[in-house]
Amino acid sequence: MSEYKLLINGALVEGDAKLDVLNPATEEVVATCARASKAQLDKAVDAANAAFPAWSATPIDERRKVLVAIADAIQANIQDLARLLVQEQGKPLQDAMGEVFGASAFFRYFSTLDLSPKVVANDDKSRIEVRRKPLGVVGCIIPWNFPVMLMAFKVPAALLAGNTVIVKPAPTTPLTALKFGEIIKDIVPPGVVNVIADANDLGGELTKHPGVRKISFTGSTETGKKVMASAADALKRISLELGGNDALIVLDDVDPKETAPKVFGAAMQNAGQVCIAAKRIYVHESIYDQMCDEFATLAKNMVVGDGLQQGTQMGPLQNKQQFEKVMGFLDSAKKDGKVIAGGGRKGDKGYFIEPTVVRDIAEGSKLVDEEQFGPVMPVIKYSDPKDAVRRANASEYGLGGSIWAKDSEKAWALAEAMESGSVWVNKHADLQPHLPFGGAKFSGIGSELGEEGLKEFTQVQVLNMAR
Ligand code: NAD
Repeated sequence: MSEYKLLINGALVEGDAKLDVLNPATEEVVATCARASKAQLDKAVDAANAAFPAWSATPIDERRKVLVAIADAIQANIQDLARLLVQEQGKPLQDAMGEVFGASAFFRYFSTLDLSPKVVANDDKSRIEVRRKPLGVVGCIIPWNFPVMLMAFKVPAALLAGNTVIVKPAPTTPLTALKFGEIIKDIVPPGVVNVIADANDLGGELTKHPGVRKISFTGSTETGKKVMASAADALKRISLELGGNDALIVLDDVDPKETAPKVFGAAMQNAGQVCIAAKRIYVHESIYDQMCDEFATLAKNMVVGDGLQQGTQMGPLQNKQQFEKVMGFLDSAKKDGKVIAGGGRKGDKGYFIEPTVVRDIAEGSKLVDEEQFGPVMPVIKYSDPKDAVRRANASEYGLGGSIWAKDSEKAWALAEAMESGSVWVNKHADLQPHLPFGGAKFSGIGSELGEEGLKEFTQVQVLNMAR
């Protein structure tokens, strides 16, 4: 009997197989959970299709109440969910608490949105309304960096619009999703939300499944392309929230002492495993040395350890594959630049990497050109701000970006020229539920959150009547 079961058609069920989930801080098994077979995925899709007519016909006010009840249930279980999140994902407990609380807040936010028909004409000649209809069954595919929060980007919007869902977490972080299924089991009608776990083998099956009408995917660009290809046959709707290589540009008028900790935080949050982490730091030549020194001091003082230990500021990389990938980035960074803090593995157990600062590095190095998704920050020197923006834009990615300056008007003008879905001034990675979030270029298609995000879970229908 496994403690963590699948949620299919309103029932918690054992998987046809099992999956060991490791704690990345200890490399020991946290729990063995249920793993779904293809037949169980089919059952979940059937259940979601069977639940769709009643759920989509449920008045929106009733659906709102369900979202609020889910938000309450997440909040009531915040301690358990947060501790479990630390154990499977690795992040510090305080960050995990923030993530779980944020997820409940996002459910609450979506419960306030409206999808009433827009009346375009209603006179003696015609009645015309633009309506937003649900799509059907939505597959929500989640990565391992924010397993709880990213469910809350998708599930409440899909449900409010009247869709039913299949949630598929990443194979290295399925426990919080399965726990979420357990928590909401009696809140949503059977089949409206189904949660399955896999060993990286069912994502493709879900994206090509004929019973699924939309895929809401967050993950790497490489997998996003596969999702797009396999959704093509059935002309499935897709939203793709993919990788990023955010540039952060610091102008010459900032106070380095005051700015450095904020920039450092933007690069190192969640051990750098944030799609919108600052991944390329451009600093003006006049303050370059001073900023690099500040970053190095911050890196050396950062407390790295098990997320459940009090005082931990940074946890391990989430999984072995990512750990090895980032170690590979370190090897090339050592050749292409000068490592002034960190530079290696921390300890010999767990996937810990020292917070690392690399200076005297430029484009052409893997650490600058590719998404490192780890606690290794390249600091790049520039002399002309417009040229820095040009270099920032010379990337296939376009997720986020930021400009830091005392002269915020100047920064604003530069921000307008950045080719990315979100651009911040004097802050980075500020996501709010009412602001649409999405990527340009290889960072994605479509957006999530806000009213725009909600609409992506709907089909437009124009009702047009002659009188
Ligand atoms: P990944 O692409 O390896 O996996 C993401 C999910 O896709 C997992 O659930 C996985 O099991 C599933 N999957 C695997 N193969 C599939 C297939 N063929 N079809 C459908 N699904 C499949 O990504 P990851 O390594 O888990 O996550 C890290 C990446 O996610 C980074 O590139 C990061 O930038 C990106 N990310 C983007 C955002 C965003 O909002 N833009 C947010 C978080 C993470």
